[in-house]
Amino acid sequence: MQKQKNIQVKDKTFTISIPESEIRQQIKRVANEINRDFAGRQPVFLAVLNGSFIFAADLLREVDLPCEISFVKLASYQGTSTTGSIREVIGLNIDITDRPVIIVEDIVDTGLTMAHMLETLQNQNPSSIDICTLLLKPTKLQVKLDVHYCCKEIPDDFVVGYGLDYDGFGRNTKDIYTIV
Ligand code: 5GP
Repeated sequence: MQKQKNIQVKDKTFTISIPESEIRQQIKRVANEINRDFAGRQPVFLAVLNGSFIFAADLLREVDLPCEISFVKLASYQGTSTTGSIREVIGLNIDITDRPVIIVEDIVDTGLTMAHMLETLQNQNPSSIDICTLLLKPTKLQVKLDVHYCCKEIPDDFVVGYGLDYDGFGRNTKDIYTIV
């Protein structure tokens, strides 16, 4: 079937920027790196909802290690931390003490979400924490962050599709689209 070059999501037009075939290829590459780096270990994948649900599903099917996955969200509450407001990781139903953790994120932009997540998870004493992101906007990073696994670096433009939304819509495409 012919790919749709442009799509409309609510009031905005988006144009195709990362086709399904490239996403799949990059996920395989990253999964192979994880398979190599975590050989002999049993990592816990923490997929950050909502945006990473499709990425996590495709990534996990390329991982051939014994592993677990939990789908989590970051919720804010009153107070302060080194990276701003205090956040709590909700939905984590696996004990990560002394376990290698791999965070699965859709996109790292300013990096603040991942910085919060790292700070919160450290309290539970995992043996290691690595970040695995589908997309990274390197020019937008506001904090020092080690992103260990990245499928693709992209310019500073808003993207949708393959799990990523614009105002709740546009998650259900196989390709990734950039705002026009
Ligand atoms: P950060 O905390 O790194 O600035 O932002 C991370 C979150 O912002 C992502 O998990 C995602 O929900 C949202 N985000 C950042 N850039 C984009 C983008 O280009 N498109 C979409 N759909 N969400 C984005």
